[in-house]
Amino acid sequence: MSVSILIPTPLRRFAGGARTVSVQGATVGDALSALAAAHPDLRTQIFEDDGITVRSFVNIFLGSDNVRTLSVGSEGVPLKDGDTLTLVPAIAGGSSASAAASVDVQFSNNEIQRYSRHLIMPEVTLEGQKRLKAARVLCIGAGGLGSPLTLYLAAAGVGTIGVVEFDTVDLSNIQRQILYSTSDVGRPKLEAAAERLRALNPEIQINPHNLRLSSANVLDLFAQYDIIADGTDNFPTRYLVNDASVLTGKPNVYGSIFRFDGQVSVFGAADGPCYRCLFPEPPPPGLVPSCAEGGVLGVLPGIVGSLQALEVIKLILGVGEPLIGRLVMLDALGFEFSEVSIRRDPTCAVCGPNPTVTAPIDYDLFCGVRGEEGEVDATGVPTLTVDQFDARRRAGEAFTLLDVREEYEAEIVQIPGAVTFPLSELPARMHELDSAVTYTLSCHHGTRSVQAFHQLRKAGFGRLQVLMGGVDAWAVRIDPTLPRY
Ligand SMILES: [Zn+2]
Repeated sequence: MSVSILIPTPLRRFAGGARTVSVQGATVGDALSALAAAHPDLRTQIFEDDGITVRSFVNIFLGSDNVRTLSVGSEGVPLKDGDTLTLVPAIAGGSSASAAASVDVQFSNNEIQRYSRHLIMPEVTLEGQKRLKAARVLCIGAGGLGSPLTLYLAAAGVGTIGVVEFDTVDLSNIQRQILYSTSDVGRPKLEAAAERLRALNPEIQINPHNLRLSSANVLDLFAQYDIIADGTDNFPTRYLVNDASVLTGKPNVYGSIFRFDGQVSVFGAADGPCYRCLFPEPPPPGLVPSCAEGGVLGVLPGIVGSLQALEVIKLILGVGEPLIGRLVMLDALGFEFSEVSIRRDPTCAVCGPNPTVTAPIDYDLFCGVRGEEGEVDATGVPTLTVDQFDARRRAGEAFTLLDVREEYEAEIVQIPGAVTFPLSELPARMHELDSAVTYTLSCHHGTRSVQAFHQLRKAGFGRLQVLMGGVDAWAVRIDPTLPRY
């Protein structure tokens, strides 16, 4: 019988790096003996000293069945042609920092009960739980991704969880940021998050870091942790986190979301690629919308953040196949997971052999921070404030206010008298505009109206001005009865 044996990551170095080994054998025992004959270094990993009995910390799965639990005895289980055996070592590898520190970890009876569903899993056991308790994980951001991430890491018993955050809870966060309750609106996120996580698991240490991550603080902060989990929503921080994780040698469990799409990977691991190997430079300003502009489905960060928690826990336990060198993409609308391989780029500016990025960089906050717009470069753009605009309107001055948001946004709230003319339709509909007319451009917060300004200016329109802060500023300063979104 020709069978395939899947070799897990921690054991591959004993099998010449192979992911799958094909062997001949009529039973599981035969197949394992053939495997050990082909790769002698694996023999001591799989078998006891007698060379026959499978070690107690190695599980062998035939399809989805653990052959240990089959009545005939694992070695005698018959195989069919084309069968696949999977080796699952219960204890192997893991991040050296936590593994070393886990030796002295003790558990109270309460903790034994709390983690009992882990302790009875052969892939975790008491030893794995000790590793979780010894592990130190830094979560960047306590928003949509950071919510499920920190909640599951805390619940799982990760002993030290750092949280970097400086924002306050907004009502518009509650739709997806499940760390927070409606009663938390207005509170600092860090305070509410620490309270919630400590209530969830008082056995662990929560370190709140009330700061904006920067080149000045990132290296010292990362040095205190074993694993970084990146739940940021903006590119400057994403590159800062990537570069610092490479520079400090800490794996970076990455997740990102946009509308219905998600991505997960593990960057910066030893021998693995980094985010810059995939995307060498940040995208140009304005090309990628922030969450506030693009929207995000409430449940999506729940899925992606949970996948990040899964990868963090796998890294700590040293089990399974981490997403190193693999980018998993989720299309939630089509319900498709797809995966691409990412290789380390030998010309990578930070993890390559000749790096040009040797210290953390503070990129300009060009593409929206924490979902806020209004960070675009509006240099040279004629602007007016909502107060100025309101005064002119009251004085009876004629105006043409072009609202460059989408129709479905105009349905939520609109400045009286505004004409909806979406930025996305501007190139195709520009001929409808008259270059002799003075247009006041408005959007949600002010980003898209600046983009519209540049497009129109290029097309020869000279009489343009941008309403600073858009409809949101209008709702705040001029008509507080209007809804904000
Ligand atoms: Zn790289």
